[in-house]
Amino acid sequence: MTDVITAPEPRTSPEGRLATEQEARDVAEAAREKEWQAPSFVRQLFEGSFLLHLVHPFPEIDPEEEARARPFMERLERFMREEVDSDRIDREGQIPPEVIKGLQEMGAFGIKISEEYGGLGLSQTMYTHAIGLVTSQDGNLTALLSAAQSIGVPTPLKLFGTPEQKKRLLPRCAKGAISAFALTETNVGSDPAAMTTTATLSEDGTHYILNGEKLWCTNGTIAELLVVMARTGKRDISAFIVESSWPGVEVVQRLHFMGLKAIENGVLRFTNVKVPVENLLWGEGKGLKLALITLNTGRLTLPASAVAGAKRCLEISRQWGAERVQWGQAIGKHDAIAQKIGRMAADIFAMESVSDLASLLADRGTHDIRLEAAMAKMWNTEIGWRIVDDTMQIKGGRGYETVESLRSRGDRPDPVERMMRDYRINLVFEGSSEIMRLFIAREAVDTHLDVAGDIINPKASLGTKLKALVRAGFFYARWYPSMWLGWGRWPRYGEFGPLATHVRFVNRASRRLGRTLFHAMVRFGAKLEKRQAVLGRLVEIGAELLAITAACSRAQALVKKDPSNRGPVELADLFSRHARRRVEDRFSSVFRNDDVRTYATARKVLDDAYLWLEEGMVRSDA
Ligand SMILES: Cc1cc2nc3c(=O)[nH]c(=O)nc-3n(C[C@H](O)[C@H](O)[C@H](O)COP(=O)(O)OP(=O)(O)OC[C@H]3O[C@@H](n4cnc5c(N)ncnc54)[C@H](O)[C@@H]3O)c2cc1C
Repeated sequence: MTDVITAPEPRTSPEGRLATEQEARDVAEAAREKEWQAPSFVRQLFEGSFLLHLVHPFPEIDPEEEARARPFMERLERFMREEVDSDRIDREGQIPPEVIKGLQEMGAFGIKISEEYGGLGLSQTMYTHAIGLVTSQDGNLTALLSAAQSIGVPTPLKLFGTPEQKKRLLPRCAKGAISAFALTETNVGSDPAAMTTTATLSEDGTHYILNGEKLWCTNGTIAELLVVMARTGKRDISAFIVESSWPGVEVVQRLHFMGLKAIENGVLRFTNVKVPVENLLWGEGKGLKLALITLNTGRLTLPASAVAGAKRCLEISRQWGAERVQWGQAIGKHDAIAQKIGRMAADIFAMESVSDLASLLADRGTHDIRLEAAMAKMWNTEIGWRIVDDTMQIKGGRGYETVESLRSRGDRPDPVERMMRDYRINLVFEGSSEIMRLFIAREAVDTHLDVAGDIINPKASLGTKLKALVRAGFFYARWYPSMWLGWGRWPRYGEFGPLATHVRFVNRASRRLGRTLFHAMVRFGAKLEKRQAVLGRLVEIGAELLAITAACSRAQALVKKDPSNRGPVELADLFSRHARRRVEDRFSSVFRNDDVRTYATARKVLDDAYLWLEEGMVRSDA
């Protein structure tokens, strides 16, 4: 007998319907950080300026900070190796209480909370390295620690909490109170406009009354403290700190997934929960902005996790590539497998460069890193997925076999099958790959929209359009020629030695990116925002340019430190060669592509015109 699956009732906006595309856009736009108060390397790239000095010399990890973090990092590493059985956690779908207790006792839930509140007071970089360490062995524990600290209570509290809120709650978090972040609802995935959870101010103004249901809340089934997003007005979404022990807070059910079998994720229901006004974070209507700003650094965890997972893949591929003999030699020596292993090593070097660069810049606090963080999330998780996939291929049938099965017949129990299940969600949560591209693209076109947006705005009056035309005339008369003026061989960037050619490439390519983006705006006008594939290619070019720059800069720094090790230069060089080919490929298909035809085909699929293609299978909708 098959299970009958009943679809949940569609949830709707307060007006009783799903939010329209325009409403979704308006909500996203209202939550956008519109100001750029600090320089951004990536934003400049999209404007056609290669401001190398913003990211080079590669920021160094403060040796004092590293020394301060060392005892914790060593304890964490030892704990993971000796006391965590990740295969068992995966098999039983449960993190043993003693593991959670062990992490709490060593301060792993308060890594970034300052010492004043009882936390370890470590930097973003040390935090991401610690999470990386955990991920290299166990994705479930990463979800536990990261949902609590990257997006859970401590980070928004640190950024936006009042002194009273911090004093009241941060010591609890530092001691190990597990927290969670609840935004998603049945109809609120990538788009919060249809949020139905509400928080209504009581008549006496002392508390809000919270009602609604949240989906997929990581740590939600065990958390003590929750950040909950709720509507406080027709357009306003606000953030609240909610204690799970309060009357009316209910864990409806725990949810289960393809991987991360022990993730404590669930549906939470709030029924007339009284939330004291003191638990409102930042201010009414600022919830989405708070979430976005929290994620600027919060999402740096995933790129670091992707690096750690990829390193585990390299270890497995290295050992198996050398050990497994087929057709007379080690499989790693057959070209097809060697290509994968070589690319893997080069990619990991670049991934780590991108991840560290973003975290180190976040620690400096002198840069606006929202685009670097978004690119790091998007790019690292996607490259990392290919690395996991390649590792599965390199391990052949053994890659597909579970560790228990491998162990039962005395084979090396590499957890590739588990890694594949655990890894895939990284491309979906904390901003899916598609949403990251849209987020980055929106900022990439921001300067042009500021200058010339009114010309293509159908709602702008004739007077406004004319004003915009004059403004744009002045701006583009200076800017556009500068996108062509540049000498490919100057500056020389001689300090980069053999990598200088790649840095010069990024310099040239940034101008090409600036003008291509401009050409796309001229060609598509207001319709550009609908051309997601075109925008996606431009974003991908930006990400590759960031990765080349980060890899070359870090390689140079590492070789300066230890001239006897040329490895970093070799890997940065190989990575840059690969990335340059991808950049050329994307440029050549910005305007010459099959996007329109492909879109039309998708529409036909959605309109059931190709149902005949689905013939010959057991129908699920019969
Ligand atoms: C294991 C797990 C843990 C999670 N933990 C949490 C948590 O702790 N707290 C929390 O609040 N949420 C959490 N989530 C929810 C997660 O953040 C969402 O899954 C994610 O935001 C995407 O939403 P969705 O799944 O509803 O996809 P949808 O928004 O329905 O999107 C489906 C697909 O369409 C694409 N798409 C959507 N809109 C557009 C667009 N405008 N243009 C182009 N493509 C688009 C998406 O990229 C995706 O590929 C978790 C989810 C999972 C599975």
